[in-house]
Amino acid sequence: MMLYVDGLCFSYKRAEVLSDIGLKLRRGKILAVVGPNGAGKTTLLRCIAGIAKPEKGSIRIDERDIFGMKRTGLARRIGYVPQSAPSKFPVTVFETILMGRRPYISWRPSANDLEVVADLLRSMGLVDIALRYFDQLSGGQKQKVLLAKAFAQETDYLLLDEPTGTLDLRHQMEVMEMISSMAKEKGVAAILAMHDLNLTSRFADAVLMLNNGRMFCTGEPHQVMTRENIMSVYGVETEINTSNGCPYFLPIRPVRDQGVDSRE
Ligand code: ADP
Repeated sequence: MMLYVDGLCFSYKRAEVLSDIGLKLRRGKILAVVGPNGAGKTTLLRCIAGIAKPEKGSIRIDERDIFGMKRTGLARRIGYVPQSAPSKFPVTVFETILMGRRPYISWRPSANDLEVVADLLRSMGLVDIALRYFDQLSGGQKQKVLLAKAFAQETDYLLLDEPTGTLDLRHQMEVMEMISSMAKEKGVAAILAMHDLNLTSRFADAVLMLNNGRMFCTGEPHQVMTRENIMSVYGVETEINTSNGCPYFLPIRPVRDQGVDSRE
């Protein structure tokens, strides 16, 4: 089973923000989308989630165009966790995760739905906070709960917008390990919008580097995240070393007139 994006273009009003994007993703793999603020990472995830409709190009799972699928059918294939999910009324952690089962529930949750939620609470270490209100949790706890909700949806593909953006080091590692084990154990394919190049290098199988809505480079982490590419796209001089085959990055200084981001 494969996800294919071909020739995708997207504009807000008349401003094109994604141009001719193509990618392929096999189950069990993690693709990180990197690039400066405004590069188009969120917009790309929103298109693949079926929320934003591209003006050109196609997004297919195997041979099926996602825009031809019914909402519930799509929600069983692709899960999306945005950067922030405002909650309008108080819901508990348990109820939040149960909402992930919505594509399977006709009018009330089955014993299996409740079992899926209970298993996730246990395996993700969330039992102690199951009855706390979601909006009273710390950023790290909220992110884990949103991941658990997405896992409860039991989709083949997960789209996660900056899943580690606001987390401390330990939560970053825990969240990335949860995503990685879903990929390895359940064969879920994940696309992550990422800012942290070190976490990207440590966990991603492939990287798509976007700049100004275009594909700047794509390939394995060590092929994409080079000093030259980081300089061109982010305008930052970095020192790169390698540990266990993974590059890691020490930012040295921003460089004037390089990587100028014209979108923000
Ligand atoms: P990233 O996630 O890489 O920071 P985004 O996909 O959020 O990039 O944004 C890509 C471009 O689209 C930016 O120039 C941004 O200002 C613009 N943009 C994002 N959302 C909207 C919107 N709702 N209306 C108009 N322009 C938008």
